[in-house]
Amino acid sequence: MKLSIKKQFLLLFLLVIIVSLTLLSFLLRTTIDSCFYDYKWAEQSKIFDLIVSRLETYYAEHNSWEGFNGNELAKLAMKEGCYFTLTDNEGNLIWTSEHIIDNQNTNYQIDKYFRNIYTVNYLNQMRGKVYIGQFTEKIYTPNDLKFQEQVFSYILISLLIALLLSLPFIMILSSRLSTPILYLQKAAENMIKGDLHTEIRAPSSSYEIIKLSASIDRLRKSLAQQEDLRKQLSSNISHELRTPLNVLQNQLEAIIDGIFEPTPERLDGILQEVIRLTSLVAELENISAIESSDFIPEIKDVKLAHVVENVCTTFEAAFQRKHIALHMQIKKGIIVKAQEDKLKQLVINIISNALKYTDKGKVTVKTYMYNNDHAVFEVSDTGVGLTEEDKEKIFERFYRVEKSRNRNTGGAGLGLSIVKNIANAHGWVIEVESDGKTGTTFRVHF
Ligand code: ADP
Repeated sequence: MKLSIKKQFLLLFLLVIIVSLTLLSFLLRTTIDSCFYDYKWAEQSKIFDLIVSRLETYYAEHNSWEGFNGNELAKLAMKEGCYFTLTDNEGNLIWTSEHIIDNQNTNYQIDKYFRNIYTVNYLNQMRGKVYIGQFTEKIYTPNDLKFQEQVFSYILISLLIALLLSLPFIMILSSRLSTPILYLQKAAENMIKGDLHTEIRAPSSSYEIIKLSASIDRLRKSLAQQEDLRKQLSSNISHELRTPLNVLQNQLEAIIDGIFEPTPERLDGILQEVIRLTSLVAELENISAIESSDFIPEIKDVKLAHVVENVCTTFEAAFQRKHIALHMQIKKGIIVKAQEDKLKQLVINIISNALKYTDKGKVTVKTYMYNNDHAVFEVSDTGVGLTEEDKEKIFERFYRVEKSRNRNTGGAGLGLSIVKNIANAHGWVIEVESDGKTGTTFRVHF
């Protein structure tokens, strides 16, 4: 049987309260019982002392036990539920009130109950012994028993009242504990149904629930972000594809309609557009391959200098065409753990950006050890630079600073996104430095 969390809390609290109240009533009863018993015995001892003192007085007055009649004393003792037997020093019976007990109530079994011996002294000498007995049943008078019963029933009633009074609190407490959990369950269901924009904040003051609620809200935000990114990505992709496809369609239609001659220059223009499209699709494939959860780089020991020098060599002609100096400060012998083709891709993207976004001056490519701790690949340029805001965003897919300006450079805003993904997959850290005017430095800490 599955019970709701509220019912479970309710039952649990009820159980705890009932067990504690039962235990409490048992303890109270035992304590009161024993205290009352002690008190009654203390009272009873006074009677024993009285009997002994009356006997001592008798002896003092008569100087012997001759003619002793204990009827008066026996009646007094009987009233208090006691009997006594007096003997002289030699143990000869002088007087006993046991026959009165026998006559009065044959149910009493004298031997069974408390019996004690006291000495009767006169002038510091023992003059006799008195056995004083007590019927245990008689320690409590009917009034005492009634009083005891009343106390116990009051305890029971108080405990029942306590239980009843605690019921509303139990219900409030179990509802306070279960409400935030029910709220979170509902919130999770809403998220499944697609509501990712309602903030999740469970109504609770307990630390764990607040933390759980905050974590679920973070999950909601990240899902919402992913969802937005997915929507933005598909709209970006269709936008990026539509523009070159329109150009191609227009040019081809014009050629077919005979408006344009299919000159080699025009056909080359069409080919360049197709190449751009192909490389865009390749970049997208690249991103989704690295982003897929099962991408784990095939790590090997790679010579950093070797990869960087190779890439620089392929870029040399492009640098010369743009009249940008390419300086290399490569430290030999540094080995990094990487999937080589991905490392090469990262180096290409960063160096090609430095070239793209530098109109004059130089680009410096360095590799070195940072504090003898780890390797660093660094590319600094004297180009347009990046603002603080751009530095945050350049790694997002399709993000381009001043889109119109970059349209001329032919980039789709995917290069640094690929760089970031490669770095993440390897556990590398990327650092970007720029004052927004006089160039940019990209650093990859391996
Ligand atoms: P793109 O294909 O447009 O170059 P990237 O993802 O490589 O896309 O870069 C994103 C944006 O970051 C670029 O459009 C550019 O505005 C900016 N950027 C990248 N590298 C540099 C750099 N070295 N100097 C200035 N801006 C840069």
